[in-house]
Amino acid sequence: MSVLVLAESPKGKLKKAAFEVVHYGFKAAQELGGSCIALVIGSADEVSQLGKYGASKVIHVPEDRGGMDSATYTDMIAQVVERESIHTVVVNHSSTGKAIAGRLSVRLDTGIASQVNTVPQKSDQGITVGRPVFSGKAFAKYLIKGDRRVLSLMGNAMAPQEVGAACPVEEVSLQVPTPRVIIKETKTVDGVVPLPEAELVVSAGRGMKGPENWGIIEELADVIGATTACSRPVADSGWRPHHEHVGQTGVAIRPNLYIAIGISGAIQHLAGVNSSKCIVVINKDPEAPFFKAADYGVCADLFDVVPRLTAAFKKFKAL
Ligand SMILES: Cc1cc2nc3c(=O)[nH]c(=O)nc-3n(C[C@H](O)[C@H](O)[C@H](O)COP(=O)(O)OP(=O)(O)OC[C@H]3O[C@@H](n4cnc5c(N)ncnc54)[C@H](O)[C@@H]3O)c2cc1C
Repeated sequence: MSVLVLAESPKGKLKKAAFEVVHYGFKAAQELGGSCIALVIGSADEVSQLGKYGASKVIHVPEDRGGMDSATYTDMIAQVVERESIHTVVVNHSSTGKAIAGRLSVRLDTGIASQVNTVPQKSDQGITVGRPVFSGKAFAKYLIKGDRRVLSLMGNAMAPQEVGAACPVEEVSLQVPTPRVIIKETKTVDGVVPLPEAELVVSAGRGMKGPENWGIIEELADVIGATTACSRPVADSGWRPHHEHVGQTGVAIRPNLYIAIGISGAIQHLAGVNSSKCIVVINKDPEAPFFKAADYGVCADLFDVVPRLTAAFKKFKAL
């Protein structure tokens, strides 16, 4: 009995999240027994490298993923679960993982816990596992009864650590069911780390006064290699695209660094960003609520501070 993790490889490249989920699977296997097996569906480079993060083997299904929907993925994962006698399936809490996890738990008739961020522990009746709830204000511990379960792992919850060497790869051909839904086209923003995976985020709000001023935000993000984000009114006003909106009704993120510029720090905004590891706030109002959630704060005019911060980063990088 082992742990099976789905390692996503969009456009043939393993995502950072794939290494996270493999390392989580490795730790889960240490607690629950067995080993961690990584499943890669579709073409992908250097899948044996997943062994470095704790996979004992990789099952590689080279079938072309083009047009595959979550029902097709679920069917294929379920085949591997039976083939390898798996006790725990772990997926990333990504758009793909979210779509698969629920279906898979129904298909396997198991319990499910989503967005977990602790390693599962054995209990008399099954396992216990935890996750933050109520926008990070409380922590819930779940008991999942039975011998099998499905978990989705919160983004950036587990830093992937090298624990071994490249592992064997088994090329497997699975029965691919005829999909009922065919994905004809997927449009993604190229050249930018998607917000849920970004380690560095530069975010700005209504304090920017208008979209014409965003050059200083983009320049700062560019210099430090960050992804840009924004508050909801900024996206609602069309100053920035909706996929940049973070918060309760937008994307929930957990980067290592979140720089909030001209954002007041309303509770609905904080709900999506307050799990960031380090928060830097730039706001000219000393009473702005964001300062209470900040690790570092600069109380000043952003139009003065941001260009100076960018210049300082440029100077530092040139050293
Ligand atoms: C149901 C619901 C869901 C919501 N969901 C979300 C959500 O998901 N995400 C979200 O962001 N919001 C959400 N909101 C809206 C939220 O309540 C706030 O209205 C919003 O976050 C405020 O955006 P802001 O901080 O950019 O703007 P403002 O509140 O207008 O704040 C602008 C800030 O910029 C500062 N500032 C102005 N000029 C300068 C300057 N020159 N230099 C430095 N600082 C300056 C000001 O001091 C102020 O603090 C939601 C609201 C509701 C009711």
